[in-house]
Amino acid sequence: MSDVTQFISKRAQSRTSSHFANVPSDKPPAGFKPHPKPLLLSYGTPNDGFFPIDSIDVNLVNFPFEHQSKGGHLNGSASEPKANGHAKEENSNSIHIARHTKTPNSLDLSRGLQYGPVPGLDPLLEFTKEFIAKTHKPAYDDWTSILSTGASDGLNKACDAILDPGDVVLVEEFTFSPFLRFVNNVGGVSVPIKIDLSSDSNGLDLDYLQNLLDNWSKEYPNLPKPKALYTISTGQNPTGFTQTIEFRRKIYKLAEEHNFVIIEDDPYGYLTLPKYDASRFSSNNKVDPAELKNNLTIEDYLFNHLTPSYLELDTTGRVIRVETFSKLFAPGLRLGFVIAHAKVIDVIKNYAEVANRGASGLAQTVVNNVIREHWGGLDGWLNWILKMRATYSHRKDLLLHSIYQSDAFKKGLVDVIDPKAGMFVTFKVKFLDPAQGKIAADEVIPTMKQLLWKIISHGVLVVPGYNMTVDQKFSLERSNFFRLCYAPLNNDDDIIESGKRLTDAVLEFHDKGNKF
Ligand code: PMP
Repeated sequence: MSDVTQFISKRAQSRTSSHFANVPSDKPPAGFKPHPKPLLLSYGTPNDGFFPIDSIDVNLVNFPFEHQSKGGHLNGSASEPKANGHAKEENSNSIHIARHTKTPNSLDLSRGLQYGPVPGLDPLLEFTKEFIAKTHKPAYDDWTSILSTGASDGLNKACDAILDPGDVVLVEEFTFSPFLRFVNNVGGVSVPIKIDLSSDSNGLDLDYLQNLLDNWSKEYPNLPKPKALYTISTGQNPTGFTQTIEFRRKIYKLAEEHNFVIIEDDPYGYLTLPKYDASRFSSNNKVDPAELKNNLTIEDYLFNHLTPSYLELDTTGRVIRVETFSKLFAPGLRLGFVIAHAKVIDVIKNYAEVANRGASGLAQTVVNNVIREHWGGLDGWLNWILKMRATYSHRKDLLLHSIYQSDAFKKGLVDVIDPKAGMFVTFKVKFLDPAQGKIAADEVIPTMKQLLWKIISHGVLVVPGYNMTVDQKFSLERSNFFRLCYAPLNNDDDIIESGKRLTDAVLEFHDKGNKF
């Protein structure tokens, strides 16, 4: 293995870690024996008797949207609460979190509401490692994990760990744009890499990247060679593309040749999606509820559906994988984790000590105990993920179905990319104009802006690709798309209606000669 410290920024290397209340670090005098039961008059940790919460009961559902079936307001998936054979009886759908517990691997409030170790409370931290060992095991041994307050925090800390002022990060030209601010924050420079927006694409344009790296000093004479590549490799935000394993091998090879780090941001990868299948829909747009249940086993999912992470290719400790509980559990938890070489995780820990002292103990306690006590650990968590993915794949297909049935689609005015994972569909507008042919590159954004007003007036909100660029000018020609996210809507009918409104708006815009 190469020396991983070469990747670490000077800022991160210069940080130290110590706590004023620790026992002295000097060598103890001869004959010193530690007392077996020391009494703490040192740390400012309030005794748990001061905590006003005595216990918490957490009530759970068996399936996403199950709560709606209780209120009689059905989402498609709600009609299958017992899917996957893992449903429990109604009255066993809660866990009790007490002030104190002796149950191994469960957290109680005396720990969850107390100051805790910065890397995370042991049971949950251990769980993240177990989970990664099962889903995306790195190809070397000296890796570890640290909890974060979500992927945003993980990404910000990854940038701090490796970027010195002036360092360059390669970024997919359309991206989760807050990342650009994390780079900026440490004085780094983001350089866009083209995305291939054709439907069978891997996202990142490999030829462009290879050529750029081979001719770096010609293309960017004033910038040093890249220190890192930031990629949302599965269900990319905003385009929805997923890189195949063969493609990842090629990118990893480039990373070795040109010695850069790969920051892999993967909030969506576990939500794998089958290809759209029209035969699931009856003529009234309805889907047989039996179709909605999860029909995958964990083994099938892990081996045949889940795309391997860059971690699994990593033999040189150059991959930093950022995960989050935001999309699989809930974003308000502000909980995620980062997996990388132990030396990288160590500097992230040192930064966490000055930044936020790690993730909320209460969030960790709830997630840990729900996963371990209620769902029974790793397989239970994977089963929940399978139910999430079944629900998302249903939603994705509904939205595509609605678009495919539209006149705008049938007339060739729009196209969509069927994502293999995640929650985003790229909705491309072709601006076909028989009189003028293809519109000029500098007309794309003004035309998209006019179209966006039309779409809003039809009662649907979408994100234009040009709002998520590294550099709008660089991406002009490829900016004729909107990101559609099928995560927020309440139910099937609204998803179908949203596709209808959107395509009606495009048709009307086209019929008015690409004018509002
Ligand atoms: N990365 C990507 C690609 C995202 O789409 C998001 C959330 N939209 C995040 C990171 C941030 O996630 P978190 O809520 O865990 O901070």
